[in-house]
Amino acid sequence: LASRTFHPEPTVIKVGDVSIGGDEFVVMAGPCAVESREQLLETAEMVKKCGAKILRGGAFKPRTSPYSFQGLGEEGLKILAEARERTGLPVVTEVTSTEAVNTVAEYADILQIGARNMQNFQLLKAVGRTGKPVLLKRGMSATIEEWLNAAEYIMNEGNFQVILCERGIRTFEPMTRNTLDLSAVPIIKNISHLPVIVDPSHGTGHWRWVTPMSRAALAAGADGLIIEVHPNPQEALSDGSQSLKPENFMLLCEELKKIAPIV
Ligand code: PEP
Ligand code: MN
Repeated sequence: LASRTFHPEPTVIKVGDVSIGGDEFVVMAGPCAVESREQLLETAEMVKKCGAKILRGGAFKPRTSPYSFQGLGEEGLKILAEARERTGLPVVTEVTSTEAVNTVAEYADILQIGARNMQNFQLLKAVGRTGKPVLLKRGMSATIEEWLNAAEYIMNEGNFQVILCERGIRTFEPMTRNTLDLSAVPIIKNISHLPVIVDPSHGTGHWRWVTPMSRAALAAGADGLIIEVHPNPQEALSDGSQSLKPENFMLLCEELKKIAPIV
């Protein structure tokens, strides 16, 4: 179902008045996690002003350590919904369990499946049954074929609105958190009709590499980006080291606007 031989035309996914997979280069941005109402509303207004079209923010966080901040849960979803009301930006947020799918689907415009859950087949089938657009991240040790098979699980439930997201894979290189596999972009474009976006924040793990890898993602033919932005990265409850400060996010958007139609 994800293959171009089955469906030769590129799939364009409409979320509100944003189209993903068409001519536009779509920037999704926001904090790693929703930490408070103030933090999220401030970030949402700022990323909107810069040209972001979709707001990101995690309410259910899949943390490596059980002692790390786990997210605000449903309270976080309510804050995301308030930010959408105020800014008009559609919301993408992660769902980490089958039990939470219906609750998250009530609030979110796009359901995110995180790298750690890319092969959680029950979860894939459950988001497939919601009929909501799904942002499917590549697993950190998944091949492109395994990733497309994960998309197949969602589509097999009748939901064809799948956005693929390259977010880096595990390699032997310790200078970056992950190795951003940008070659996946043209390969996906060649074998699938699904839109593909790039997450240079998780892909590199350091804010300094986010802007150059964003340029590279655009040059490689990606349909958009998902970027972590925090009003005060040093105090972020998760992924502060890879989060852009507002001023650097603004510079990135200014640069992208000169080369692609993002506004
Ligand atoms: C995230 O988007 O904050 C996240 C946890 O991403 P990933 O699943 O790619 O690690
Ligand atoms: Mn994160």
